[in-house]
Amino acid sequence: MRDGGSDEDRTVSQISVDPQPEGTVAVYLVETRDEEETQSLRNLFEELEPHISVAQLSRGRLVTYAVRTTDADPSVLDEIEHALKSNYQFVVMQRSFDSVIHRVIKDLCSETGTRLLPIPRCNICSKPDPFPHITITLGDEGGEPVMSRSYCRTCAASLAAGTNKDFVLSLLSADRHDFGELANSELIRSRVRSHYLRYKIRQLSNER
Ligand SMILES: [Zn+2]
Repeated sequence: MRDGGSDEDRTVSQISVDPQPEGTVAVYLVETRDEEETQSLRNLFEELEPHISVAQLSRGRLVTYAVRTTDADPSVLDEIEHALKSNYQFVVMQRSFDSVIHRVIKDLCSETGTRLLPIPRCNICSKPDPFPHITITLGDEGGEPVMSRSYCRTCAASLAAGTNKDFVLSLLSADRHDFGELANSELIRSRVRSHYLRYKIRQLSNER
């Protein structure tokens, strides 16, 4: 029955679910003139990293970062803008991330010979999202990741489910990927500290 072929056909026997807290996102586009400027920009965002989530979107002449703070007071985002504007000539900040700004970055990258870096896309609606709302990791028997799936806030919110388990199954069934026999499996909750939710999978079709 199985088509076989890719790595993704390794048997999935566990699922880990990592929901991300809601936060305020900002995107910063900065034009750098030399390697020194690029390096000091990198240092600035690296220093911030323990406090806020940072995702680099482009690398080269145009350096783009998306950041997310979960702090109730998002004034750090304005402080970053201020720090950038006092050190770099061309700085653009947008207080959110969406497909439009991603397309603008992509266009500017091709105009300036800058490398656009890959970011996660929602596996239901395909929208690019540097900070996916939920990430599901499918793992094999030994816990090694087989594949990772990301979902945006909008898609996750559109799925109504009574329990966490139903929610995970409805995400996977709305996912564009065909998980095959996984849809016919039972999820058994296991408690692990590192993940919010983790399930073992029992194949209903292969019950002995
Ligand atoms: Zn989506």
